[in-house]
Order: sequence, then structure tokens, then C-alpha cells
Amino acid sequence: MAETMRAIVKTRPGPGAELLEVPRPEPGEGEALVRITATSICGTDLHIYEWNAWAEGRIGPRIPQTMGHELCGVVEEIGRGVDQVSVGDRVSAETHIVCHTCLPCQRGQLEVCLNTSILGVDRDGCFADYITVPAENLWVNSPDLPDTVASALEPLGNAVHTAMAESLEGRRVLVTGIGPIGAFSVGVAKALGATEIFASEPNPYRRSLAGAMGADHLIDPMAVSLTDMIMEMTGDGVDAVLEMSGHPTAIQDAISCVIPGGHIAQLGLPPDNVTLDLNKLIFKGIRFYGIVGRRIWETWEEMDRLLSSGDLDITPVLTHTMELEEFEEGMRLMEAGECGKVVLTVS
Ligand code: NAD
Ligand code: ZN
Repeated sequence: MAETMRAIVKTRPGPGAELLEVPRPEPGEGEALVRITATSICGTDLHIYEWNAWAEGRIGPRIPQTMGHELCGVVEEIGRGVDQVSVGDRVSAETHIVCHTCLPCQRGQLEVCLNTSILGVDRDGCFADYITVPAENLWVNSPDLPDTVASALEPLGNAVHTAMAESLEGRRVLVTGIGPIGAFSVGVAKALGATEIFASEPNPYRRSLAGAMGADHLIDPMAVSLTDMIMEMTGDGVDAVLEMSGHPTAIQDAISCVIPGGHIAQLGLPPDNVTLDLNKLIFKGIRFYGIVGRRIWETWEEMDRLLSSGDLDITPVLTHTMELEEFEEGMRLMEAGECGKVVLTVS
């Protein structure tokens, strides 16, 4: 009889997910079987769990499907033709599987591949004992990196990619939206030499995470005018904004808060179209960067450098660690915004 494993599966179109015993997958050509040791919960997982319109359209046709994509694990088995990793390697995964043949891929811009498919979205994910992943998507971790930290490298990569849109050395930086990725980016901006960091976030729990990651000024944008506050404190605006909320007001504020000639790196995804004062953006000569995913593998190499040098410590953002079976409590914390990153350990 085929071996089985535990997996958190989206079994039906609607809120919730089930912990089930399912067949253990086998690695195909070019794939590795990874035994999961830790996996963290992303906002995308929450969307799939709650079943919003995006999840209905994207995941609906694929269920039953295992959730999750942020992982740390150990290579247990390799398929034919795998030479990127060996059995026993402790790995994390780049979750975007790219085609290598479209024009952006051929230009080396793998992060904007025209045919990207995503772990836990377009194929079975890692909220399970095992996952199969294209071996070329695996990143071998430094031996001294804890599993909980390694499980969060994928979202940390979003923060690093955003923070590295331009140099932040000697810059005053505003981070809007202190979800887990915003909180990571406060630490990343500091590690990259930002001199003064402003964090804007309405939720007090999450504002305090920005403080723990080294932000100099914590601002509640519901209590004060963010732009007035920034102008009062800086005189002429911040040099850079890392926009990590996707909230329309925060994006509009970003344009007002940045100094002429500065830049905005936009990772936050607005739920809908946003009205922006483009004249202001143009006449201030602002460079506006859309940021997606991580640069493969440049972002991962930079992340490794920041973590192994000791310049960046993300553990204050990893606020909750629980067992895989407790995923419903993890989802509840995410829904309530009473957490940074929630990590599920798998044993
Ligand atoms: P999150 O939803 O946990 O955090 C967003 C935070 O923004 C919340 O804490 C919320 O309270 C705060 N916020 C809401 N309105 C605000 C306002 N007006 N001003 C300041 N803050 C406000 O999200 P996350 O997991 O940390 O991810 C950050 C963003 O990046 C999300 O929008 C997510 O969808 C997006 N994302 C984009 C990519 C990409 O490739 N572009 C990848 C991952 C995540
Ligand atoms: Zn491609």
C-alpha cells in the first residue's frame, strides 16, 4: 500500500480546510521530495482558507489541494535528473516556478516570468509532512539557520527585494504597513544602512513589531495625518517609501511623504484600482517601482548575507510557533492581526 502523510487540504469551495491523511507524493523527473520541518502562514494562505473571490477563481478549479508555500525541510528523495540538491540537504523553497523560455526569463528577469506557477496555489503545497518541488527551486540553508527562520525566507525575500529597489544607505525610510513583511523590511532597511526609519501602521500590536525591528518612529495613520507628521519630523520628506500595505490611502500618502527625487517601492497589493495624483508623482520626479516576488537568486544571496553577517535578526517577527495540527488557531491569529509571522512546526 502507498505510504500516507498528513496534509492540510482545501477540500471544498468555502471557508476552512481539513487535516487529512493523504498519499505521500513521489518526486517526478527534476523534482525533490522534501520532508517539512517548519512552514509559516502567509496572507495568501489566509485568503485561500477564508475563500475570497481570488481564491475561488484561482484555487476553485484545483481542489482538493494542499495549502501552504513557505517552508523549511530536508530533502528525503530525489527524482531522475536532479543535481541541484542531495538527500539530507536542509532547504527552503523559492515558491515561483518559472518557465525559462519566455522573453522576461530569457532576459534573466525570472521574477516576472510570463508563465509563473506557485507552490500551494497552482499545485500542492507544504502544510503537510512532505511536498514535491522542482529541485531547481530549492535553496540550501546555512547549517546554523534555525528551521523557524528558514521557513520564513520566502516572505523575507519580498522585503529584501523591495528594500533593495535602490540603495537605502544613509537614507530616511518610511515603511507603510507593518504586517510580517513590513516588519521584516524595517529590519532589512536598518541592516542596509538606513539612518532613520518611520513606520506607519494602524494596528498597535503590529506597530510595536516595527519598534522591535528597529524603527525610530511609530505612527498611527488613523490618529494623525501621516504626511503632516513626516513633514514635521523631516522638513522635506523621506528619501524612500517601502509600501507594504496595499491600502489606497497609504499609497497616496507615500507620494506626499517622499522628497522630490526620492523613490517608492510598492510591494503591497491594493484590492482594487487606486486613484493617484500622478502629476505630483511626475513633478516630484519620483521613481515608482512595482515589486513582485524575489529576484532569483540574487535576493536569496543578499538575504543570506544579511542573516549570516548578524546584521539582520528576524526572530522578533516570528511571534507564534505551533504544531501543524493547530493551524486553525494560526489562521485565527492572522485574521485578527494579533501576530507577526505564525510558524507551524511539523514533526
Ligand atoms: P498584511 O496584510 O499582514 O499586512 C498589511 C498591514 O498593513 C496590516 O498590518 C494592516 O493593518 C496595515 N495597513 C492597513 N491600512 C494601512 C494604512 N492606511 N497605512 C499603513 N498600514 C496599513 O500583509 P503582509 O503579509 O505583511 O504583506 C504585505 C503586502 O504585500 C500585502 O498587501 C500583500 O498582499 C503584499 N504581497 C505582495 C507580494 C508581491 O510579490 N508583490 C508578495 C507577498 C505579499
Ligand atoms: Zn518565463
